[in-house]
Amino acid sequence: MASALATRDQKLVDRHGRAITYLRVSVTDRCDLRCRYCMAEEMTFLPRAELLSLEEIALIAERFIARGVRKIRLSGGEPLVRRDMIELAHRLGRQVGGALDELTLTTNGTRLAQHAGELFAAGMRRINVSLDSRDADRFRYITRHGDVAKVLGGIAAAKTAGLRVKINMVALKGLNEDEIAPMLAWAGERGHDLTLIETMPLGHIDEDRADRFLPLPRVLADLRDRFDLEPDDHQSGGPARYWRLGGTDTRLGLISPLTGNFCATCNRVRLSTDGKLHMCLGHEDSVDLREAIRTGGLAEVDTRISEALDLKPAAHDFHIAPGSAPAVARHMSVTGG
Ligand code: SAM
Ligand code: SF4
Repeated sequence: MASALATRDQKLVDRHGRAITYLRVSVTDRCDLRCRYCMAEEMTFLPRAELLSLEEIALIAERFIARGVRKIRLSGGEPLVRRDMIELAHRLGRQVGGALDELTLTTNGTRLAQHAGELFAAGMRRINVSLDSRDADRFRYITRHGDVAKVLGGIAAAKTAGLRVKINMVALKGLNEDEIAPMLAWAGERGHDLTLIETMPLGHIDEDRADRFLPLPRVLADLRDRFDLEPDDHQSGGPARYWRLGGTDTRLGLISPLTGNFCATCNRVRLSTDGKLHMCLGHEDSVDLREAIRTGGLAEVDTRISEALDLKPAAHDFHIAPGSAPAVARHMSVTGG
């Protein structure tokens, strides 16, 4: 019943006074790669019956838009392995330029060459592509079987289609740290932005994350010695802090959830593949929007969203130490990275 639905006046402001304007959606927890820091080799994925349908995702996302969300990111798992994902992009993309400022995507790029044109047609203008190494053997090792040529082809196709590409690179001690400076130079030459990410303790993997943890302050100090980097005041309301690479359009972002905590300005929440609304990547608390939409419809979804605002914690509390358990059992692929 339309009258029971919340309106824009019922904005999403949490108990710490932070306005929620950014929704990330994991459209599938499945993936065609098995990045070592993200998943175990033998991952168990959610049964299909537990996934939100495309219609349910769209309806829930539209409730967030109605209550003030201005940006939506589709992620996963690998969003482009879900067949109806492009349909969802077109449906949500119709709101870009109106109620939505931006619809965007995070992808591993393996299927980007086939879909870049459609993503642009759906209203996307910027996307994130993960690329932890440009070396074929190393890329295969990190992802357990990926082909870097496909990803590089996907990035080129995205650029041709008119999409601005931001490269996401997880900084991994002893694995790709020697590629960080060359990656920044490469991104600068091609007009891509680059975001470096500290590995986060989310979900069980086959290795000890402490062995690969590379603190970004050290990386930044090294990059500042080698490149002309000026602090950039760009704010995304997210965890990244930015630098501008002299003489280029390239922005370097650093996401340091372990060595720096920027939760005070957090503006985002996450909808998982199975319909849980997570108010923080680093906490187990959630509300069940799948059950809400299936039993009480959109009015119940609105009620649960309002309840969830009280669950958003002031900050996450990540630690990585040898042998330590993940901060949360959930993998990033379920919540949407
Ligand atoms: N499959 C897509 C991709 O790889 O871009 C989207 C989902 S992935 C979970 C989103 C981002 O999270 C990627 O940039 C990935 O490198 C990053 N990521 C995954 N697990 C992570 C972890 N434990 N710590 C830090 N970043 C992680
Ligand atoms: Fe898949 Fe992305 Fe996780 Fe790699 S980081 S395994 S591409 S979901």
